[in-house]
Amino acid sequence: MGSTLRPGDTIGILGGGQLGRMIAQAASRMGLKCHIYCPDENSPAFEVSAEKTVAAYEDEQALTQFAKSVSVVTYEFENVPGETARILEQFVPVRPGPLALKVSQDRLEEKTFLSEEAATQVAPFIKVDNQAELEAALMELGGQGVLKTRRFGYDGKGQIMIRTPQDIEGAMDKLGNQPAILEGIVLFEKEVSIIVARGVDGTVKCYDPADNYHKNHILKTSSVPADIPEATAQEAIDMATRIVVALNYVGVMGVELFVVKDGDKTELKVNEIAPRVHNSGHWTEDACPVSQFEQHVRAVAGWPLGTPTRAHNVIMENLIGDDVNTWEATLLEPNARLTLYGKAETREGRKMGHINRLSPKS
Ligand code: AMP
Repeated sequence: MGSTLRPGDTIGILGGGQLGRMIAQAASRMGLKCHIYCPDENSPAFEVSAEKTVAAYEDEQALTQFAKSVSVVTYEFENVPGETARILEQFVPVRPGPLALKVSQDRLEEKTFLSEEAATQVAPFIKVDNQAELEAALMELGGQGVLKTRRFGYDGKGQIMIRTPQDIEGAMDKLGNQPAILEGIVLFEKEVSIIVARGVDGTVKCYDPADNYHKNHILKTSSVPADIPEATAQEAIDMATRIVVALNYVGVMGVELFVVKDGDKTELKVNEIAPRVHNSGHWTEDACPVSQFEQHVRAVAGWPLGTPTRAHNVIMENLIGDDVNTWEATLLEPNARLTLYGKAETREGRKMGHINRLSPKS
């Protein structure tokens, strides 16, 4: 099997959530098939895919069979075990590659890579493995900081904001004494993100940056265009480009940034990278000729990237938990495009769908 796919070939996707589902839908539109590999038998991506495997990410036999049935493997979440990727790579290209997984799975590696290899600004950070190291790190950062586990943190989980002496006591115990980093608190004006793609041939394309608003640590809305100076938007594009080039990356990536005002100057610091399609890029589906999902499919298939130019202004709203009950009312809104993920059970904090509200481009 070559590394450039033909219509009719199959993309293997690790993970069966809404991101995998939307990648599979974009692939299907272009005559490609998808084979979803996920341990959860109720995965929303299964119902839109040609094939599925329900097995653990450690199941070497199932992984081998899966790898032999597809032309390329990609993933919809960054915590793919390193060993899983190594097994698959013996048979088939895994895109994005192992360096992207290694860097994005560990906040210490990520911050070190971003500052040293990709020459991007990040919050000051110090490695912390125990309470004594935490106290020493706090002295260095002026007594305050954000303590984060190095691995498996998301949506504000696995982190503690330390502002007062009371926050310090027992902080490492609260994090389960896992390896961590202490970051300086960034006094940001707002949070933005940018979706970037890099093809097998090295071409890089970026979508417009989005303004992100979080509620209870979960993304609630992404608005585009972001309300930031033109030069700051260009800086976001330059940073994202440096990151994907330094990683020799193939696929779509989400880059989350803090916007910091320093007098008249506006600066960006990278908070986090996600080596996959990203929730803050769902607006591209209805506002751009080629969505982030199609772009990802094109990249991992070895195809030319599509145009990311935005045709509309758009506000993407996540439907979280009971928000999904507004679906009928949304159908009556003329400029709203509704996407539901087909999840059987509504739970608090669970992403159930999203709405893109379009307006004329400014
Ligand atoms: P994360 O899990 O790293 O994406 O962080 C979740 C949220 O915590 C971010 O979206 C920010 O709102 C906040 N946060 C994370 N790191 C910092 C920091 N160094 N300074 C201030 N706020 C932060």
